[in-house]
Amino acid sequence: MAQEYAENQGLPAPPCMQCNGACCRASSGHRFAVMLLPHEPSVPGEAVYESAGVRFRVLPYDPDSGTCPHLSPHGRCLIHDERPTLCRVFNCRSALNEDGSPGEFLRENPHVYELLRPDGPVGREPAA
Ligand code: SF4
Ligand code: SF4
Repeated sequence: MAQEYAENQGLPAPPCMQCNGACCRASSGHRFAVMLLPHEPSVPGEAVYESAGVRFRVLPYDPDSGTCPHLSPHGRCLIHDERPTLCRVFNCRSALNEDGSPGEFLRENPHVYELLRPDGPVGREPAA
């Protein structure tokens, strides 16, 4: 699905196999692992998050590991086939500015930017 979305955006798929799940960790700079869409089925570990009087279903980070509760120690999603929609569509390449500089997510995650930067190992790959 991430591949399909990436292609719809005109972007190559993100290099998830090389990054150890950066967007599934509190160190990504996000407040929770992922927000669930209203129609999505229940996911183990979900909770309600409230902001400015609006309630969202989210997967909070595990307080001990600081990661999504479904991220394996090896940086893989343990519910990959049933992962939430926003996990499927997130593509960190969209945080790369047109001039090749890092957007907010990539500034928070410089090791991912090192992969994606125009002169980096993945940034040199031709678009799919
Ligand atoms: S940060 Fe990018 S490359 Fe890493 S797991 Fe997330 S989408 Fe994939
Ligand atoms: S459900 Fe899977 S892809 Fe989504 S944040 Fe958790 S570990 Fe990452």
